[in-house]
Amino acid sequence: MPNLNISEIFYSIQGESTYAGLPCVFIRLSGCNLRCNYCDADYTWEEGEPQGIESILSEIHHFDCDLVEVTGGEPLTQEMTPELLTALLKRGKKVLLETNGSIGIDRVPDDVVTIVDVKCPDSGSGDTFHPDNIDLIRQRLQRRAGSCELKFVISSKKDYQWARDFVSFHGLAPLLPVLFSPVETRLASSDLAAWIMEDGLAVRLQLQLHTILWPDISRGI
Ligand code: SF4
Repeated sequence: MPNLNISEIFYSIQGESTYAGLPCVFIRLSGCNLRCNYCDADYTWEEGEPQGIESILSEIHHFDCDLVEVTGGEPLTQEMTPELLTALLKRGKKVLLETNGSIGIDRVPDDVVTIVDVKCPDSGSGDTFHPDNIDLIRQRLQRRAGSCELKFVISSKKDYQWARDFVSFHGLAPLLPVLFSPVETRLASSDLAAWIMEDGLAVRLQLQLHTILWPDISRGI
């Protein structure tokens, strides 16, 4: 069976999504099809080591943790990622997938909580959202409630307005958790909080818990 290309596997606290705060094992896959200008995992773009699914399962078995997140990079650039997700589910894990929204999520098993990160204009990767993903998200939610979350990483007021209008246009806020997260070096969390409150949006302000806990560490958190 072919290998996946793995950047790192580590145990930490889930820092984003509605699972934030829970201990979690992270499987970070190498490679990304985007180049966001705030990327804090750019080391995944080039580096990585091949590893088979059985070896990955064996490695995460050392952590006494049933919550596992597959992230990147962009995990869906690798052909074997759906097989990895299925194997994790078969081991009884609660599985999260973080994906950048630019690749269709149709091969992701319904039992995987899929966190779709919609790229805003000031990320430098705007206009990359896969057009089928809105329908795919709606279909997943009909088959399995709680199987998707939507995330926007916001750099500016322009990004905020774009994200707000995207959520409103597609009627998404009543269907699933919508997370608005500031790029901490560019936008004060309090400004984003104020805009959300002014507009009365049914979205969740999300701060990156792992960067608050470990501000001086850039990897393995
Ligand atoms: S999608 Fe994620 S990993 Fe890829 S460039 Fe953007 S922030 Fe970095």
